[in-house]
Amino acid sequence: MNLLGSFEQDKVVFQFKDIDNKLKENKTINSSDSVLEKFIKNIKFPGLNICPCRPGENAAQTLLKNFINEKKIYSYNSARDFPSYNGTSFLSASLRFGTISIRKVWNATLNLNSDFANQENYLSIETWQKELVWREFYQHCLFNFPELEKGPYRKKWDHFPWQNNNEWFQHWSNGDTGVPIVDAAMRQLNSTGWMHNRCRMIVASFLVKDLICNWQMGEKKFMETLVDGDLAANNGGWQWSASSGMDPKPLRIFNPYTQAKKFDPICEYIKYWIPELSKVSNSELLNGEISNLEKNNYSSPIVNHNIQQRLFKSLYAEI
Ligand SMILES: Cc1cc2nc3c(=O)[nH]c(=O)nc-3n(C[C@H](O)[C@H](O)[C@H](O)COP(=O)(O)OP(=O)(O)OC[C@H]3O[C@@H](n4cnc5c(N)ncnc54)[C@H](O)[C@@H]3O)c2cc1C
Repeated sequence: MNLLGSFEQDKVVFQFKDIDNKLKENKTINSSDSVLEKFIKNIKFPGLNICPCRPGENAAQTLLKNFINEKKIYSYNSARDFPSYNGTSFLSASLRFGTISIRKVWNATLNLNSDFANQENYLSIETWQKELVWREFYQHCLFNFPELEKGPYRKKWDHFPWQNNNEWFQHWSNGDTGVPIVDAAMRQLNSTGWMHNRCRMIVASFLVKDLICNWQMGEKKFMETLVDGDLAANNGGWQWSASSGMDPKPLRIFNPYTQAKKFDPICEYIKYWIPELSKVSNSELLNGEISNLEKNNYSSPIVNHNIQQRLFKSLYAEI
């Protein structure tokens, strides 16, 4: 979101615009004594305290230093998939905006290679390096195939009969689908501008394979909302999730309940982002059988995963 301000004779007009330059909010502050004071009172940066990415060069260096010195890099392999755990570097926005260079980050991992104490340490360094390589890979993909920005790499996906139900899309976008892990993740995104990688994969699969919405709708929402929004990485992530990209595995459908069982087994992440579910038992949350929905002020799932995945597969078989 961009904030634009213009000074007129006796007032200041602030406009909040999204990346497509569409106006989201218009605020006028009439100026009598201190315009700046009123500006300070009115301006809000929601999520600054909880978004794990940090702006600026010094902050980027600190994130890298902490990731390595606090030895998080040595347990990355086992920790990186659990969204309630701070197991990743949070360097994505720094890399996106160039407040740290990929060379600096890569070189920091090379110095560690001779230092590893055991197999898990070694695997973890290697896994993290591979994530950096994914970033480079997607940049190369976009550089060599600029048409990726406009549509699928695998051309047959141009003919997929997307349903693009706008009501369902809004539920997804607002974190209000009735599927706890999906809603928790979308609420994290909307409140902080960041989302854990495992959850990006889960919500992307859900939008495309369960709600049968064109992946480009999700790609756009992410670009509008992510602090690390990056055309190459985002497009690559969405095409990977939609199975329309360069990935060798043709069709991958995540079951959001199985994903939650594996990666948020005690529902810490779900309950943090959906406090109204804090008193519901973990087994109800993980199996998608929440009783007393009204009492919990939470909606029932907008779709049934098993039915939708069968429908998706049958549509896929036709293209
Ligand atoms: C649908 C979808 C959309 C995504 N959109 C973006 C995006 O707009 N911008 C973005 O930077 N990443 C994107 N990613 C990749 C990934 O989710 C984030 O880079 C990661 O969550 C950032 O957290 P981190 O910095 O703690 O990563 P770490 O796990 O610490 O990884 C280190 C760095 O490697 C790079 N990286 C890690 N995983 C990936 C990946 N799968 N693809 C490309 N680069 C990766 C990032 O620069 C990251 O900062 C997307 C993934 C998916 C599935």
